[in-house]
Amino acid sequence: MNIINEQVINGILKQTQSPADKAVLAVLKKARQKKGLSLKEAGILLNLKNKKLINKLFETANHIKNEIYGERIVFFAPLYISDYCVNNCDYCNFHKENTALKRKKLSFEEIKAQVTYLINAGHKRVLLELGEDSEKNTIDYITKAIETIYSVKTPRGSIRRINVNIAATTEENYRKLKKSKIGTYQLFQETYHKETFEKLHTGLKADYQRQLTAYDKAFKAGLDDIGLGVLFGLYDWRFEVLALIMHADYLEKKHGTGPHTISVPRFRPAPSVTYKPEYPVADNDFLKLIAILRLAVPYTGMIISTRESAQIRKQAFKLGISQASAASVTEVGGYGNKKKGVQFEVSDERSLSEVIKSILPQKLLPSFCTACYRLGRTGEHFMELSKPGEIHKFCRVNGLLTFAEYLEDFAKQNGAYKPGYKLINHYLNKIEDKKMRAQVTDKLAQIKNGERDLFY
Ligand code: SAM
Ligand code: SF4
Repeated sequence: MNIINEQVINGILKQTQSPADKAVLAVLKKARQKKGLSLKEAGILLNLKNKKLINKLFETANHIKNEIYGERIVFFAPLYISDYCVNNCDYCNFHKENTALKRKKLSFEEIKAQVTYLINAGHKRVLLELGEDSEKNTIDYITKAIETIYSVKTPRGSIRRINVNIAATTEENYRKLKKSKIGTYQLFQETYHKETFEKLHTGLKADYQRQLTAYDKAFKAGLDDIGLGVLFGLYDWRFEVLALIMHADYLEKKHGTGPHTISVPRFRPAPSVTYKPEYPVADNDFLKLIAILRLAVPYTGMIISTRESAQIRKQAFKLGISQASAASVTEVGGYGNKKKGVQFEVSDERSLSEVIKSILPQKLLPSFCTACYRLGRTGEHFMELSKPGEIHKFCRVNGLLTFAEYLEDFAKQNGAYKPGYKLINHYLNKIEDKKMRAQVTDKLAQIKNGERDLFY
């Protein structure tokens, strides 16, 4: 089975070059059925230039986001534990030839200290990040690091879900990751355009096929929550969006489950990196591509990072983003230090509490929910619940409960407490099932009395 067919993608982009308004409206109408889009339909939207219709696209994306994901934004923080790397990716400050970088690999004690810092900031989810180096960053080091992170218990809670972003590896190593109870395994293709991929990478990562087929190995090893991504700026964003949809379709057909998430990182300047993106994505196009992905793969969560400014993130939350990092540091061992960006510069430098306070007026509900993977709702099982909209019921409730925990443990003095509970009550009243509403009211009271980790 061919995963990416460049000829087909280029053909569609050409064929849909100047879409008629009627064709655009028909695609937007179909998108409301929440059944996704064909490549051609996505191509029509990718080539859309009419401002009025772009606004209509945004409205449709907002509608679908609300229907499927509701009001929640799930927060997490990246955790860098080693920047040793054998690869030379042109865009990344961790590239092997950067001799100015003093490499670091955290000891398990140092990992505990970083995790304690993140817990005290209010986080419950981390995304583990490492460079590729099979001698320094062995799979045993990685799985022991995961065990260490889960083992840290503090009076203000613990990390309950660890997603992992490491280079493509073997089925055997994926099996070990699965055993160590990770949440989502994320790997970005960076660019689906083979020639560009080969131009920008040297080292083990330069193998386009290895990168592209990594998920097949992960699925074989039992990892069924996987996250795709593209580093926008390396190649034409329209091509990349169609390739992402193609990859998602392939995974669904081949393994019975599409991607759990899609990440949309955009290139950022980084120390030692002289590479300038050949295809920089303008802000308007960036928002457009998020909206189009929302329509094309409505049941896949979408992740935005602090590479983006507060302003762009605010707009993106309305168009389909369901998960966001906050208060991130891209340096190994960097939490608690002044420097924020070492792998690349971050743009949104606000604290988690500032980010949370800023989304409350939009009636967006901060969530720290980790229930699904802990209850085994992953892969196909997750999709079975999420497609008919069933999952939404659990998500809202778990969002309310985990946000109440956050307010009790971290927000009594930071100004989010009162508006936070106002929002909780607003959504509590929207729970139609009376029995469920009563149960949740009871659980919220238990949280006020010190109970923790209540979920559905
Ligand atoms: N080393 C692993 C890999 O490359 O797959 C793990 C992830 S790496 C620490 C995380 C991601 O950071 C990469 O996949 C890449 O997309 C992104 N990244 C690297 N340099 C970047 C830059 N200058 N701007 C934005 N994102 C960047
Ligand atoms: Fe290494 Fe990943 Fe950076 Fe490439 S993107 S240099 S593989 S850390």
